[in-house]
Amino acid sequence: MFDELSDLYQQVILDHCKKPRNFHELPGATVFAQGHNPLCGDQLKLYLRLEGDVIQEASFVGSGCCISKASASLLTDSVKGHTRAEVQAMFDKVHELVTTGKLNGDVGKLAVFAGVYRFPARVKCAILAWHALTAALKGEAAQPVSTETDNPQPGA
Ligand code: ZN
Repeated sequence: MFDELSDLYQQVILDHCKKPRNFHELPGATVFAQGHNPLCGDQLKLYLRLEGDVIQEASFVGSGCCISKASASLLTDSVKGHTRAEVQAMFDKVHELVTTGKLNGDVGKLAVFAGVYRFPARVKCAILAWHALTAALKGEAAQPVSTETDNPQPGA
């Protein structure tokens, strides 16, 4: 699946997959959310510590494929020090990037996911952590978020 990704992007993704950053629970977390991508089996729990409107710390735990782990790892690195509004703007850019390959503005290291749109099955792996992030910021931690929103959970 990596054949068409550039070597540089592949290296960064593999590095974050093998050595995920901020890969631990966060005892002082103020919000958290769980994400689940049933198509691939990716599961993760994302923790954030907010002070006012600013994310001071972010971390995650979970299991899944290389893309989902690298995405969560890079996400936790990228959102620190940013406000809710900035992170929402970041989500929009990353979402466009992984679904269309179009980079609209600067996303820093997250640009490594530019090739993902060519692998439709992997798009949900790349965006899973971001769905968990927006759920956490909305305070929707009670129900795990799923990439498969067409099938509501019974009782949800
Ligand atoms: Zn996956």
